[in-house]
Amino acid sequence: MTTHKLLFLPGDGIGPEVAREVSKILTLLSEAGIGTFETEEDLVGGAAIDAHGVPVTDATVKLAREADAVLFGSVGGPKWAGVRYEHRPEAGLLRLRKDLGLFANLRPAICYPALASSSSLKPELVEGLDILIVRELTGGVYFGEPKEIVTLDNGEKRAVDTQIYTTGEIDRIARVAFELARKRRNKVSSAEKHNVMKSGVLWKEVVTQVHAADYADVELEHVLADNCAMQLVRRPKQYDVIVCDNLFGDILSDAAAMLTGSLGMLPSASLGAEDAAGRRAALYEPVHGSAPDIAGQGLANPLAMIGSLGMALRYSLGLGDVADRLDQAITNVLDSGSRTRDIAAPGQNALGTAEMGNAVRDALKPLLA
Ligand code: NAD
Repeated sequence: MTTHKLLFLPGDGIGPEVAREVSKILTLLSEAGIGTFETEEDLVGGAAIDAHGVPVTDATVKLAREADAVLFGSVGGPKWAGVRYEHRPEAGLLRLRKDLGLFANLRPAICYPALASSSSLKPELVEGLDILIVRELTGGVYFGEPKEIVTLDNGEKRAVDTQIYTTGEIDRIARVAFELARKRRNKVSSAEKHNVMKSGVLWKEVVTQVHAADYADVELEHVLADNCAMQLVRRPKQYDVIVCDNLFGDILSDAAAMLTGSLGMLPSASLGAEDAAGRRAALYEPVHGSAPDIAGQGLANPLAMIGSLGMALRYSLGLGDVADRLDQAITNVLDSGSRTRDIAAPGQNALGTAEMGNAVRDALKPLLA
């Protein structure tokens, strides 16, 4: 049986609560003979600040590098509001992304049929929605230099952010998108603004070249990022994989996410470059934060975290068929009417975090037989 090395970094607030539910699923997978899961757990965010004075230690980063996949909960909370900016809880996550070279952020927006009515769009527009946004995560305007606010001679201030992309950065994110599309519905929509931005011109050019050279079998369309935002709320099911830069990806993935109902339902993955052995550093995490308003009450929805495990099974552990069954288990649980409070109808009796985790585990068990 293959041994998979997983590092759990549950973090703060509801992070440890939802991570516990993932452990239950892994125990079931081991018992069912799917594989051996060697798990280690370490501190990150506020929990690491309390123990070590920094939001992530060198030793934790080393463990993360050695793992086949990192399962990250969430970090932050009012307790650490006063710590130095460089040592704030979120800096732990940013350091992990940077040190592991996690340049590709994958955010699926899947609308489970049973939740179609919780979307802000009409159910027929979102029912069965399954799109994947591939966002470049380590370049672009959030990192480009100069990045400054300067005072001009006339006393006015001027702010500058710099959007920079190299051919290599665009090439590698385009390849991730095309590879993923091949495993889905075989279509990539590349979103940029070549009409007004030079970085958009280069983006379009490189994506076109990568497509022609190595992925001509995949359908490719170019779409202006503002039109893409409009289409996401008009007719979202036209998309399969959307690939875009860091800034547009930040905005488009949040818009797409909300088509599906609740923050508690949204998983994500961040992947690094493939090494010679075909192995990538990878970190999987729910999109939501530490939810201090409900932390410690057993109310958090664990489905985003469980969905993040599903992505790890699919993209890091070579267990796509098991990931499919986990998705089916979640669908079955939702179809049966079970809901945590965030996705429940007004007045409906809601499950707690552990009860929802148990329900998914129990629904998965027969699917593994
Ligand atoms: P949040 O995602 O923690 O919470 C927003 C709202 O959604 C809250 O009302 C919360 O109760 C609800 N919610 C979130 N996840 C839920 C779940 N699984 N089940 C049910 N309800 C859920 O965002 P916020 O309140 O803006 O931030 C709280 C803290 O989390 C801050 O310190 C912020 O910096 C941090 N944060 C961390 C990450 C991360 O670790 N990647 C991401 C976002 C925010």
